[in-house]
Amino acid sequence: MPIADNITRLHSELPVGVKLVAVSKFHPVERLMEAYEAGQRIFGENRAQELVSKAPQMPDDVQWHFIGKLQTNKVRMIMPHVSMIQSIDSLKLLALVDKEAARIDRIVDVLLQLHVAQEETKSGFTVDELLEAATAGQLQGFEHVRLRGVMGMASLTDDQEQVRREFARIKSTFETLRSGVLAGCDGFTEVSMGMSDDWPLAVDEGSTMVRIGTDIFGPREY
Ligand SMILES: *Cc1c(COP(=O)(O)O)cnc(C)c1O
Repeated sequence: MPIADNITRLHSELPVGVKLVAVSKFHPVERLMEAYEAGQRIFGENRAQELVSKAPQMPDDVQWHFIGKLQTNKVRMIMPHVSMIQSIDSLKLLALVDKEAARIDRIVDVLLQLHVAQEETKSGFTVDELLEAATAGQLQGFEHVRLRGVMGMASLTDDQEQVRREFARIKSTFETLRSGVLAGCDGFTEVSMGMSDDWPLAVDEGSTMVRIGTDIFGPREY
């Protein structure tokens, strides 16, 4: 299916209020422009270098989301380009993002990444770590980051019930924070979960933002 058709179909299938992040990693700018022309404005990249090289080649109203493992030495490089960093996986990274945002006098939206999947290779806070950090006040008080919500990935498995349980766990952690220690935190509204293979389940479990690559652009060639 042409990219434009995929965008149109996803925009119509997603419930109102669920945002689509077009995960464009490994795809050339010409293909991103096909999605853009079909109305897509949020693009997700997982490598700093790639985001920084694509951003100036795309129209100014594109919102770039960083969704990959973010090395501390790459924060400065992406800061002028990103509207949201979805993959904050440590307090150290959160503090550094705040510092680098302050350095160029901006405020950046961030999501706190939760690790609920069985694979050790995935990163993120465990549920307990995140709740403890929040209770200890360690997430709050930054002036140049705006906490917008949480992000997570389910395990790579055919077991739909397990995937559903993991999404439910991400959502309930978000709810615990939102109605608890982060209740005063304006804009803490987003739950980013769901990819090409599992987004309908994620939406069912309360996702507000899905990150879809393959279903839009086709397979990636690494
Ligand atoms: C690559 C990637 C996606 C998109 O995966 P698809 O299966 O191609 O839809 C979503 N989220 C993250 C964090 C990714 O790295």
